[in-house]
Amino acid sequence: MRAARMHGYQQPLVLEDVAVPDMAADEVLINVTAAGMCRTDAQLVDGYFQDYQPLTFPITPGHEIAGVVDKIGRLVPNTAGLTEGDQVVVVGGWGDGTCRLCQAGDTQLCGHGRWPGFGPYRGYAEFLPVPYAYLIRVDTKYHLKAEELAPLTDAGLTPYRGIKKLRNAGALGPDRVLAVIGIGGLGAYAVQYAKLLSSGATVVAFGRNDEKLAVAQQYGADHVINTKGKSIDEIRRELLQATDHHEIDAAVDCAGAEETIQMGFALLATAGTYVSVGLVGTRINIPLFPFVGREFTYHGSFWGNYNDLREIVVLAQQGKIKHTLKKVRFDDINENLARLRDGDIIGRAVVTF
Ligand SMILES: [Zn+2]
Repeated sequence: MRAARMHGYQQPLVLEDVAVPDMAADEVLINVTAAGMCRTDAQLVDGYFQDYQPLTFPITPGHEIAGVVDKIGRLVPNTAGLTEGDQVVVVGGWGDGTCRLCQAGDTQLCGHGRWPGFGPYRGYAEFLPVPYAYLIRVDTKYHLKAEELAPLTDAGLTPYRGIKKLRNAGALGPDRVLAVIGIGGLGAYAVQYAKLLSSGATVVAFGRNDEKLAVAQQYGADHVINTKGKSIDEIRRELLQATDHHEIDAAVDCAGAEETIQMGFALLATAGTYVSVGLVGTRINIPLFPFVGREFTYHGSFWGNYNDLREIVVLAQQGKIKHTLKKVRFDDINENLARLRDGDIIGRAVVTF
């Protein structure tokens, strides 16, 4: 099978022919039909996670995976409801199944977990074995395309979990302003979930690229603000003009740059709630006194669990999720990783096989 593999940091992926991987008896072999390209893939190649996740090369990146069931292991129970030829998406973050977090369903947080896309056999290859518990079947009667399904497993999932945290914190509702900060691969989905989950809040998209902000507007943002080169006071004036509010009550930060976090907290209202899902920067640097004195709440939110993804699949089947996609040929992976690194891609790039 074809695979695009990392043989070291800061080198292009090597596109090569490798053996189809073996599978365990409780696994399902997936024929990958599409793999989303995440900024994280470029960061993985660049060594961003080097201190947190030791790697043994070669590594095949690609953690946004949609495919078709090719072979089913003999210990996979019938109740898994899987048949050869089924269309499936792969849940990221495979836990050990024994810890408190796994038992609560948050296998992506497991301390002894495996993440597809950070090991030997993953999305940038034609086949991968997946433990049956981490597959969600997508009914083919909805005619969802592989390239639409793959990004739902991260870009279309991560902001959903983040916005659920805002909702569960009671931060959303009419007369509240919800900011979506950063309109890249995640942000284009975040705007849609902001409208779906925010119970009438005003949704404002903040970004630095008019073309990306136009996508946010098309997907339901009530207002968009281009922050490029603007001071906080200028941004606040635009916010006031657009919404009649000079502050935001809640924010989902899909960029995660040091500057976006600083901007978001500078605009945050007293008792406001902020959730970070983006990972561009490396540190959080915000003033402490307003954080304490104005009772800000700050959530980290990582990827999504099985149930989060199931909910997303239902929304997709109901036709409630729109996609801005760029189909990428396998041979063009490296060129597109470079474009991703530069923030040049509108929406999500997806490798299709
Ligand atoms: Zn665990």
